[in-house]
Parts: sequence; structure tokens; C-alpha cells
Amino acid sequence: MSSPTTYELFAVKYGTHERRAAENFIFQDIHDGPMPLDYFVWVAKSPDKTYVIDTGFDEATGRRRDRAIIRNPAAGLSALGIDATAVEDVIITHLHYDHVGNFEIFPRARFHLQDREMAYATGRYMCHDRLRLPFDIENVTGMVRQVYQGRVEFHDGDEVLDSGLSLHRVGGHSHGLQIVRVHTQRGWVVVASDASHFYAHLETGNPFPLVFNVGDLLEGHRTCRRLADSEQHIVPGHDPLVMQRYPAPSSDLEGIAVRLDVAPR
Ligand SMILES: [Zn+2]
Ligand SMILES: [Zn+2]
Repeated sequence: MSSPTTYELFAVKYGTHERRAAENFIFQDIHDGPMPLDYFVWVAKSPDKTYVIDTGFDEATGRRRDRAIIRNPAAGLSALGIDATAVEDVIITHLHYDHVGNFEIFPRARFHLQDREMAYATGRYMCHDRLRLPFDIENVTGMVRQVYQGRVEFHDGDEVLDSGLSLHRVGGHSHGLQIVRVHTQRGWVVVASDASHFYAHLETGNPFPLVFNVGDLLEGHRTCRRLADSEQHIVPGHDPLVMQRYPAPSSDLEGIAVRLDVAPR
């Protein structure tokens, strides 16, 4: 059996938002204090293929939600030497406003999405204000348009997308949330996205309050651990510590991108 393809793996930061710890956990047995969120897109790159994971929100969405964009995700990718207009595969972990959008910067891409996420974002649960809140109708209808253009590849549960790269639906935070397992030079890394916003969610089992199903979310933590080579191989979706623990690919990318395929500090 041939060994799996090895990818370079990057997190690209495109935004940030001030919050307090009390807003970030369901159970309030925590020390309150500032606990900002960072916003990322991720990239898995082999010699022959580039996968972009999530596309981020655009300026208009950021303004509507009072969230600052530091740089357009396309500019972040471009700083890494990736031309978004040439990318052919984009994995969407889930359809929350901060993970999908910016369709126009990926004119050649097909979008990889879980069946259940599309059903969730367009079905009966969206009649509930609280569950609808993290979705943006422009992004959801934007994805429906991609479906009608034949540009969405749907997945159901676990799927090997390529040698060394697989998708795994965990649900929980959003009904069809998927995580991405990537083979790198340091072993199998899991891009957890919002299966764990912060390291602290995995460490404490105290979830982020925005959740569809708490049981599935906690089982999702187990799935992350099962798929990653160690706890150090799980990358949370919004933790500013990611930018501190991992090195920039080069000095000019300091504060813009980090390498996840090397061991964290
Ligand atoms: Zn989310
Ligand atoms: Zn998110």
C-alpha cells in the first residue's frame, strides 16, 4: 500500500472580534475576562493540489455583524502564494456566516459540503431565530446558486476526498459540521473548525454556547481525538493561541498565516 500524500497545512487569519470568556462557554464556572475570537481560513497544499478549507465572510457581512476583517481572505491566500481564482476544491466545514461566502473569489472551485448541513440551513430548524442567527441568507442562497450551477459536491458522513485528506461529519455545533483530517510531515492533523472554537473547549468539555446538539458536539471532541495523532494535532477554529503556538511560514507572513504542519511551541 502506498503511503498517503503529505500536505503542507496553513491557517490564514482574516479577522478578529473582541469577546469575554463568559460569552464563550455554556457553563459559567469559568474565570471571566477578555477572550477574543480570531477568524481563519485554512489551506492544505500538496505538490499537485490545493484545498482551501472555508472561505470566510466578506466586508459587507462583517459590517452587518460588527466584525472586523483584517484582510480579505483572498489577500491572505495570495500572501501565501495561492491564487484563489485557480483553486479547484474548497471544503466548507459548515454554512455559518464566518465560514462561507466570498464565492466570487473562487470562480473555478467546486464546494465540498455535507448533505446534512444544506438540509439544516434550508429546513425547518431555520424557523427558530436563535438557530438561524449564525447563518446569513446571502451565503445560504449563494450556496444554493452553486448547487444549481453544478458546483457543489455533497458528502454524507465520512469521506476520503484524496490521498491523505478526509472529511468527517461531527455535527453538534451545526447539524452538518464537518472536520478535516490532513496527513502532514508531523502526522495526522485535524482541522476542527467549530467542533472546538478554542483549545479550552476541548480541554474542559464546556462547549461554546452556539450549539445545535450538545451531545453530538461532545462526541465530536472524541472524534477529533480519534482522528488526530495527539491533542497537539487538533487545530481549533477560532483560538488566537493558534497564531502564537505555530510559526509563520516566513517573516513577511508574521501575523497573517501560520504553519500547522510543524509542531506547536
Ligand atoms: Zn460556526
Ligand atoms: Zn465559526
